[in-house]
Amino acid sequence: MLAGLVGLLQAAEILKIILGIGGTLGGKLVLINSLSAEFEHIEVLKDLNCPVCGENPEVKALLD
Ligand SMILES: [Zn+2]
Repeated sequence: MLAGLVGLLQAAEILKIILGIGGTLGGKLVLINSLSAEFEHIEVLKDLNCPVCGENPEVKALLD
């Protein structure tokens, strides 16, 4: 059930991004409590020192 719910949320996010409408969950982590039917958003700050997506990326390709 949760996999289906998360899949629907992901599909809705992609459609909003493609169509350029609404707000997205970019930079946010969504916590789902299915027992209480509550959703919570937590802001996730970008790590400026990240070797993949930081200011000076060192990893620029997939590695085996
Ligand atoms: Zn990163």
